[in-house]
Amino acid sequence: MKIGFFGLGNMGGPMAANLARAGHEITGYDVAGTTAEGVTSVASAKEAASGQDVVITMLPNGKILRDVYDEIVAYGTKDALFVDCSTVDVESAQYAHAKAKANGLASVDAPVSGGVTGAAAGTLTFMAGGEDDAFQRAAPLFEIMGQKAVHCGTAGAGQSAKICNNMILGISMIGVCEAFSLADKLGLDRQKMFDVVSTSSGFCWSLNNYCPAPGVGPKSPADNDYKPGFAAELMLKDLMLSQAAADATNAATPLGAAATAFYQAFVEHGGRGKDFSAVLPRLSEMKRGDQP
Ligand code: NAD
Repeated sequence: MKIGFFGLGNMGGPMAANLARAGHEITGYDVAGTTAEGVTSVASAKEAASGQDVVITMLPNGKILRDVYDEIVAYGTKDALFVDCSTVDVESAQYAHAKAKANGLASVDAPVSGGVTGAAAGTLTFMAGGEDDAFQRAAPLFEIMGQKAVHCGTAGAGQSAKICNNMILGISMIGVCEAFSLADKLGLDRQKMFDVVSTSSGFCWSLNNYCPAPGVGPKSPADNDYKPGFAAELMLKDLMLSQAAADATNAATPLGAAATAFYQAFVEHGGRGKDFSAVLPRLSEMKRGDQP
């Protein structure tokens, strides 16, 4: 297939490279001029969007996604499929769908989970929203870039699933870090704490797969001086999306709100550029009543 790929950053670069490796003809466009292996880079959005069977976007936020769609839908070949893999607010995802539809294009919102490692290895999870037919057309591409794709519902449903998943992740990471910090103060060995909790009712992805304590559990950013991984400011971005969605739907998310405030303070006071699990060393240096 002929595929236009917008946004060849940390995630988009390896995703586009995997599609090229699988034999697709990839034309890439990134405002920063970055490119990826096997991708033919072009100098304008128009060139990247014109004459493609599929156009994929992997962009930083909803505002940029809206701007890009405003520009490129007019260049889409009739019946082309537009797939947005960025993590954005539900309204921006629905805006992109509406723009595509008005121009006779099929569209899917398909944010991902799995991070840069998953993007490079082709093991991402896609959570998709849109018409069934559009999802079926995108599915073979999801298979190349990922290991699982779930059709969550209509336009925006992929973003809804992503936002809910990452709200759990933010809350659970803080919970695991608080438990390690408390265990330290109680004089409990971190390895013993891991051995117990990872096979008890406190087990969760943040502890079992991404342990924030260095030298404990499987290899994680904690073992690499908390270099991301998944940066604290990206966690904050996703938590803020969860709170915008909760505001829009009048949903009660007290712990989601607390986690958002926590990561906001953490990012502003030294957490920026660190992995989101670096909350553990921060908590370790805090005393009861201190603010992050
Ligand atoms: P990134 O900043 O590395 O890449 C985004 C790229 O988009 C940049 O190279 C930028 O130059 C380009 N860009 C910006 N405006 C553009 C435009 N108008 N036209 C073309 N290109 C443009 O970010 P990333 O880590 O690759 O993340 C991309 C998306 O994936 C984000 O929405 C992020 O929330 C989401 N995401 C990231 C991760 C992760 O671990 N990094 C995991 C899951 C989801």
